[in-house]
This record gives sequence, C-alpha cells and structure tokens, in this order.
Amino acid sequence: MSNNNQHIIESPKEKQTRHKAMEAIKVINTLKEEFKNPLESMEYFYKLFEDVYCHQKSLHDNKVKVGTMCIQIPSEIIYALDAVPIRLCNGFYTDDEIGSDYLTQKACPLVKATVGHFASKNFSDKPNYIYSPTTCDQKTKAGETIKSFGYDVVDVDFPRVKESEISREYFRRSIRDFSIDLSRKMGKKLKKKNLKAAIGKVGYAQSLYHKLCEYRKDSDIRINGNDMFLVTNAFFFDKIDNWINAMEALIEECKVRKEKNISVCAKVSPRIVYTGSPPIFPNYKIPILIEESDAVIVADETCSSNRMFNDRVAVDEWFVNDMLDSMADKYLKACTCPIFTKNDDRIRRIIDLVKSYNADGVVYQAYAGCTVYELEQRSVLAAMEKEGIAILYLESDYSPSQGGQLSTRVEAFIESLKMKKRKAK
Ligand code: SF4
Ligand code: SF4
Repeated sequence: MSNNNQHIIESPKEKQTRHKAMEAIKVINTLKEEFKNPLESMEYFYKLFEDVYCHQKSLHDNKVKVGTMCIQIPSEIIYALDAVPIRLCNGFYTDDEIGSDYLTQKACPLVKATVGHFASKNFSDKPNYIYSPTTCDQKTKAGETIKSFGYDVVDVDFPRVKESEISREYFRRSIRDFSIDLSRKMGKKLKKKNLKAAIGKVGYAQSLYHKLCEYRKDSDIRINGNDMFLVTNAFFFDKIDNWINAMEALIEECKVRKEKNISVCAKVSPRIVYTGSPPIFPNYKIPILIEESDAVIVADETCSSNRMFNDRVAVDEWFVNDMLDSMADKYLKACTCPIFTKNDDRIRRIIDLVKSYNADGVVYQAYAGCTVYELEQRSVLAAMEKEGIAILYLESDYSPSQGGQLSTRVEAFIESLKMKKRKAK
C-alpha cells in the first residue's frame, strides 16, 4: 500500500482483519442486494454483522463473556449468572487457513477456523472463559490446541450415546459441574429466580424462531433461507434483548407481507430442506448457490440454526438442581448431531421437516474432513430414497475456489426439482 511515497506496512493481524472484513462484507452485500424483495427489518442483522466483523465493534464491553465450542452448553446458566454466551464456531476462510497451521490440513474447516480465530487473537468480544464439550473428535482435540495458546478452556464431558440412562446421568453431572465451575470463577451463586428467568427468556426467543418459521410453511415465502441463517447465527453473540426485538420486528413484517401477498421467490421455485455441517457466517457458499439457482431454503436441520431453537427446556420442579437436570436432558436428547452412535431422531426430523414445510428436496452438506457427517450420509440417503424424497449430497469446505463445480451440481439438482414440479401441475 502506498501513500505519498510512504509505505504503510500492514501487520499480519491487520491483514487478517482486513481479509475477514472483505469476506464478511461480500456475503452481507450478496444477501442485501441479490435476492428478490428484501425485508426492511433484516437491516438490523446486516448492520450487526457489519459492525462486528468489518468494524470490530464490541457488543459486551462490560460483561463476562463465556465462550462455548458447541450448542451443548446451556446458555440459560450463563445468562442466569449475568454473563454472556458467545458461540465460537467460526465460518471464516481467513481463520480456516490460519488454523491449518495448528491442525491437519484435512481437518474440518469449522474446527480449523475456530482454532485459527484463537491463534489470530482477533476478537471483537474476547471470551473470558471457554467451555468445550467433548462432542466430535476434532472439537475435543481443538480444545487442547486452544489451551496451548494460553486460553482458559474447560472440557465438558459429553456422552456419545444418547438413549441410555447412564448417558443421561453422566451429562446431568457434567452440567452441574459446569454450573459450579462457572459460578466459582465468577464468584456468584446460581440463584433459582435468575435461572428460572433465563429459562423463560431463552424459551421466549425459541418461540419467536418458531413463529417466524410458520411463515416459511406458506406456499408464498416471506423470508429466504440465507436471511434465516443470518438471523439464527446472530443468536451466537448478539445481546439477547436486542435479538428478541429484531425478531419481533421481522415477524411483524412477515405478517404484513402475508396480508399483501409478497413473496421472496416464484411459485415454481423448489423448496429445500438443508441439512448437514452447519452454515456459519460468512460461509454461506452452498445456501447462496441454492437460492441464486432460484430455489428457496424453507427449513434446515443444522446446529447453527434449527437445532438451537427446536426444543424447549421442560421443567417439573423449579429448584436449581431440578432445572439443571432438565436442561441437561433437553440439550442431550434434542441434539441430532451425527456424533451419536445411533441417530434415528435426525432422520425422523428431516422427514418431518420435508412434510411440514412441503419441501421438494433435501440438500445435505458435509464439510470435507468431517467424518461423522460423511459417514451418516449413507443412512440419510437410504431413508430419503425409501420416502421418495430427492436429496443432493455435497462435500464442501471454506475455500472460495470450489464454486464452479458445486454450482453445476446444485443447478442440475434444482432444475430436476423444477421439472418435477412442472410435470406435477
Ligand atoms: S456439528 Fe455437532 S459437534 Fe459440531 S458444533 Fe454442531 S452440534 Fe457441536
Ligand atoms: S462439522 Fe463435523 S467435524 Fe466439524 S464440528 Fe461438526 S461434527 Fe465436528
């Protein structure tokens, strides 16, 4: 870079920040400008992502920030202790490249990017403590690597069998230990009243997600799938009250759209259920390809979206330990990640989503290097075939160079669904 013959030398950190801002703004502008009938109330989310990822704006200056490496850490406990949960799953290619120096090149891009983010120390809201559930092998090992950079990372024991009573007890114990550890670190007692209020608030946020999704079941769609991923990804780090307000505005706008019959896609656009490795901002490579090919994502089965909001904590007794046990049960039982030995729930959920959202097909993405999603594709494909549901399986990573080959496959799939739709008319 030159300015009046003076060379401004960028530090590696400045360069990484600039590259990440470029990745972020490219996707934000695509979502803002490339799709039909954008929603006005999405502006809140576009600005939020721009502030955080292009301008490094901190949202939680004066709060204790608790980093979580997966959805398995109950955010209700963190809120009840007046701290803020920050989900650390990362979607930046810049961070993925940095992470490759610390893990193997063949590792999952999500995990590499998460590690790369820590290595680059490039945080707008740096977590004070980090909790890493021992879910998939790569997340488990990533915790150790992050520890070696000098961060306070606590492993949270997580069972890989979901049905047994032993697993249930095991995870209940893990969640109690997590709450004790965080309370001790923060020097605060977990109070019944605060935990009950936090369960109520997170539950309300979940109910708003479901309310918004109702508008995706209509034959005319009010919000596209990429915007929905942005909305749910914002829940990773936003102030929960602001997120709730922005969701209420979106729901209101969708209500008006329904009255005025405004849709984001044509009637013939194939309706897609998205499943597999989670789309995490700004890696919306495949969701963008799908919607640029004139299809619309009406629902998803991923941990960066639907899985976070699907089931609510059901409490029998409002004592602290009972609430903790109910949370452990909900987080374990409701999870449909392929990390588990047996995962019939996931297949049931995909089929249920296809039926209730009247979808024409399923797109299954597995990140290259993610063994569990790769392995589980066989059983999911067989189940879809049995149900007569069209499905496209894609392996992808965070690299921008893969586009051409993926878009050919996505376009061909969408075209075949369109033909089927036309014939069925
Ligand atoms: S893919 Fe599975 S292990 Fe990875 S973050 Fe999501 S729920 Fe956790
Ligand atoms: S995509 Fe696979 S490897 Fe990556 S975090 Fe999820 S389960 Fe683990």
